[in-house]
Amino acid sequence: MNPGKIQKNKTAILALAVAIVAVALAAIFLATGPQQTVPTSTPSLAEQTPAAPGASPATETSTTATTTPEAPRLQFQAQTQAQHQKSEVKRVILISIDAARGMDVWPLARDGFLKNMGKIAAEGAYGELSPMYPAETSPSHAALLTGAPSGIHGVFSNTAYPKSPFEGGRSEPGYWGRLIAADTIWEAALRKGYRVAVSNFIHGYVPTWQARLSDADKNKIVIIYATKAYKPGVGFASSQLYKFNNSGGKLEIRIADTVLVGEVNPGAKVLVLYQGNKKIAEVPEGGWASVVVNVTEKGTTYLTAFMVKALSLAPNDVRIYRGNALIYNAPIAWFMGPEDLKRKYWKEVVERGYIDVYHGLAGDVGRGWIDLKTYAEIVNYTVDYYWRTNLFVLKNVEFQLMTGYDVTPDPVEHAILGLMDPSMPYSNNTIAEWARRTYLGMWARIDQWLGEFMKEMKNGDVLIVVGDHGQWGVRGCVAVNTALRRAGLLVTDAKGNPDLSRSVAYYDGAYIFINPKYKADPATYSRVVEKVMEVLLSIRDPATGEWPFALVVARTGQAAGPLAPIYGHDTSVLFLDGPARLQSRIGDIAIAVKPGYCAYDKSATRDNVVNRPIPFVYSVTGCHDGLGSWKELRSIIGIWGKGVEVRQIKGFEAYAANVGSTVAALLGLELRNATFTPIWVLK
Ligand SMILES: [Zn+2]
Repeated sequence: MNPGKIQKNKTAILALAVAIVAVALAAIFLATGPQQTVPTSTPSLAEQTPAAPGASPATETSTTATTTPEAPRLQFQAQTQAQHQKSEVKRVILISIDAARGMDVWPLARDGFLKNMGKIAAEGAYGELSPMYPAETSPSHAALLTGAPSGIHGVFSNTAYPKSPFEGGRSEPGYWGRLIAADTIWEAALRKGYRVAVSNFIHGYVPTWQARLSDADKNKIVIIYATKAYKPGVGFASSQLYKFNNSGGKLEIRIADTVLVGEVNPGAKVLVLYQGNKKIAEVPEGGWASVVVNVTEKGTTYLTAFMVKALSLAPNDVRIYRGNALIYNAPIAWFMGPEDLKRKYWKEVVERGYIDVYHGLAGDVGRGWIDLKTYAEIVNYTVDYYWRTNLFVLKNVEFQLMTGYDVTPDPVEHAILGLMDPSMPYSNNTIAEWARRTYLGMWARIDQWLGEFMKEMKNGDVLIVVGDHGQWGVRGCVAVNTALRRAGLLVTDAKGNPDLSRSVAYYDGAYIFINPKYKADPATYSRVVEKVMEVLLSIRDPATGEWPFALVVARTGQAAGPLAPIYGHDTSVLFLDGPARLQSRIGDIAIAVKPGYCAYDKSATRDNVVNRPIPFVYSVTGCHDGLGSWKELRSIIGIWGKGVEVRQIKGFEAYAANVGSTVAALLGLELRNATFTPIWVLK
């Protein structure tokens, strides 16, 4: 596809851009009033009409309406009062299932495969949830928590820059929560005197909240945050393969400075693990066991839990795989709450089985440590860990607001979504069949746990199940910095690392930043932007000749791409505008790839600008980024509980930010920086 030239004429497309904003706001508006509710008959899931393949945001926002950007906030405040007065809601439970794809989940529910998702759809409100730009985990979860878009909550991507990398800004994980610059539902609930429970929810990074909450509030919140950004600060926490050529004797299994002893009895096909004289686990060949031991590293002893699989106990081929570990007394706190509750959680959840596929375990397939069957088993154990945690919190923690989480679909889709499509250059029918079985098995397990969870809910509870974005399969990985280097705009040192002092532009994985020394004079700045845009316009997928972007838009108003007439020329359409102090976190050019492409690769030294993924080894096969309005990137919203209106939430009625405002409205919270209105959910 020819992306066309860089467009500079603002007025020609301004009307369209305004229309899109207006439609989005109108949808929000309509959703808040009772006029939007449907008759109380149960709508059939079969009535759901998924978006047509390849549909662009333009085709799906065809209705028009006008309103002013200031209006939603006024409406929000009025609605908060009104809705809460009618509400008998005692507790709200928001659960995010990372990368739950709307286009998969609801059809699987309709088919009866996901019975509990189907129950939510039949007895509550359900539909698609649109992430906002960029469709990444950290900005979307910040929107769920704040009722506001990136420009206001300040988390602009997963790799967040407190300030420009050209000005010494160092990236940090966007999901630490440290960069959230707006009021959250957690803080709003605490202000109201409510108790809050956080079960692995993104942005729950404990050091952030230890610094941000008052001592009094710390006594009213329980946070378990063992995922995603959690860096334990110990060397042995990641996974490991142990190989031995002999069996029948004693095998030494080293973990940091601790040695476990394994014994394999040839006839028995069982690995017995000892620490000293104490037997700590029996692992049958091909099976798993949970292990809890003290491990010493550099003089410090850590209480550690992990899962072990005896991959092979054959006489000359003993292979033992150790999954990643959770560490009770890790240097970075992952638990905030009473110590006896932490001990109970450790005993009842962690010791029963801890493994997290998120922490790079797909790479263990690539390096030949584990086979596909073992990978699929880890996927299921990961689901178990997250939901056991959610259930533990539901049963053991007093709260009015709970936020829970399951990471699993996200890393699994990154690893195998593209494999599910046999037409992908790196897939075939056999592996596609395996990938589909693994994916469906994961969803069946999530749905089973969801059912267990719903059974434990009480009268007066409202459950909101959402996802933060979807994903699509990847044909080509775009290395933007490689293109910038080839054009002479990015300079690298001998090791291939960017030397920003000598560079004009740098891509951080979400935005392109331009060296401030070219910004002093507006005419120079505009020329530099144009030069970068021309580089982007010249990129083609060598396999298809296709231009891989949907949109590139600069803050100067220059834009290109098939979606430029809709989104271009005004970054406010991407909801990036907000307080001036946050604007330095955003780059100069925002980019969004098309379905089938991924721009995660920050390397400046690839052989090609667009590269083919190699599953489990080079790059992901599933990707999410950019414009959340593509149907593949839309996620789910399901609301269930006594008093919840039975209806379908349609089209662009629900954005991630609407969810934060909805939680606030249900609990009568004052969410101070929310700009999106609540979704009407009660009868
Ligand atoms: Zn995510």
